[in-house]
Amino acid sequence: MIDARGQVVAPGLIDIHTHSDFTLPLNPRAESKIRQGVTLEVVGNCGFSAAPALPGRAALLREYLASSAPWLPFGEASFADYVTAFPATSVNVILQVGHHTLRLMAAQMENRPLTAGEMATMGQLLEEALAAGAWGLSSGLFTAPGCYADAAEIHALARVLRRHGGAYSSHVRDEANHVDEAVREAIAVAEATGVHVQIAHLKLSGVDNWGGASRLLDEIAAARRRGLPVDCDAYPYDTATNPLRNLLPRWVMDGGIAAMLERLARADVRARIRAEVAANGLTNFGRIPSWDVVRVAIAPHLPDEAGRTFGDIARRRRLDPLDAVCDFVVADRGETRVLIRSMNEKDVQEITRAPWVLVGSDGNALATSGVTGQGKPHPRYYGTHARLLGPCVRDLHLLTLPAAIHKTTGASAAALGIGDRGVLREGCWADVTVFDPNRIADQGTYDDPHRYAVGVSTVLVNGEVVIDGGDHTGALPGRLLRRPPAPGGIAGVSHSRH
Ligand SMILES: [Zn+2]
Repeated sequence: MIDARGQVVAPGLIDIHTHSDFTLPLNPRAESKIRQGVTLEVVGNCGFSAAPALPGRAALLREYLASSAPWLPFGEASFADYVTAFPATSVNVILQVGHHTLRLMAAQMENRPLTAGEMATMGQLLEEALAAGAWGLSSGLFTAPGCYADAAEIHALARVLRRHGGAYSSHVRDEANHVDEAVREAIAVAEATGVHVQIAHLKLSGVDNWGGASRLLDEIAAARRRGLPVDCDAYPYDTATNPLRNLLPRWVMDGGIAAMLERLARADVRARIRAEVAANGLTNFGRIPSWDVVRVAIAPHLPDEAGRTFGDIARRRRLDPLDAVCDFVVADRGETRVLIRSMNEKDVQEITRAPWVLVGSDGNALATSGVTGQGKPHPRYYGTHARLLGPCVRDLHLLTLPAAIHKTTGASAAALGIGDRGVLREGCWADVTVFDPNRIADQGTYDDPHRYAVGVSTVLVNGEVVIDGGDHTGALPGRLLRRPPAPGGIAGVSHSRH
């Protein structure tokens, strides 16, 4: 018996866009997520996945992912090996294979179109991942090596997805000055191949692009009205997080991390970067008001700098901010992750308000203690869903509570093509979240991010109690949800590995 008087009993929440594959092996209890009522995480996003790591290429992948997964151990592994070794977790998990990872395996950090042989390798690795249980392919066309792929390369991989019933999600090519074209490129994948497309963390970065939310939402809504299988998600924050190196022009990364570090020490390279930033703003983020909006989240080799802004760092060192940034990238070996307040709160609210925009934290499952409790990560890792169901409903009145719940439960399950989760109904999996609608809220801030959300009293995953009276029971009943085997089949058959 669970006494839920005065509380809301909702389906377990679905975090449709996360990177918890980087932390679940270190934090299988998924503390920061399950304490918000999240019972299913879709991982492997933005083109990043920790597998496959082919013989001889594991070190390359580790180095590449260090700014996202600094503490994750890497070894050679096929996608099937990876699935087998994936730990038992408190939340259910959907895995995707990443396009960056596949391209690194096929062609390392080469900035060029792939040969027919390399394309065949990527297609084969994708098929292997799908057969091993990957739900689909994610891309991150905003940065290297994904940005080296043209539309034809993505369409070819999408046709592989089509044959096997896989889905496609994308961190689109540009979220700043060319965001409209980038969203259209994602929609075109659905149009050309019929594959379901999930547009990740919809946003407009850079002051020159602020105020465009309704235009962007109209574009996607129009595609949906035309019957295209397109969904999108967002997080309710005006601040993004990314590897620091991704703020620099894309050519800086050509050839890989070692080449980048060598390049960034050169004065002529810095002059070229300075000129490009002056002309177009930061890569991926556009023009920012000042370097005070960029702050260090995690710097594995300079841990004391976490929380400092680049405005502050530059003033302290009496340097031009761009020199301070380049020095920092070099000193931290390209592994720095930053927070960047590049969005406009009005756009964020408009996107959050749209009932069909789903909710993805774009964040990792963390814990306040242990290895994942380090640095100053984005507070959305702890608070996205609690912020949506609490402050966004109660204080900002962006949407009603039922609409907010539906986004992150039934509507998300429908986007994934899952029929037996995301609703409370006989015959469905008992993923259930009980919370106090007057109390649920995020607690983390940019200065003090490692704080659990409040207001969630009970969470069940596959019928097992994981949160009981607000405390974690230690249960790990999560399952890896596998893509249904038959092409064109209906998703919803869940197979446990455990
Ligand atoms: Zn992303």
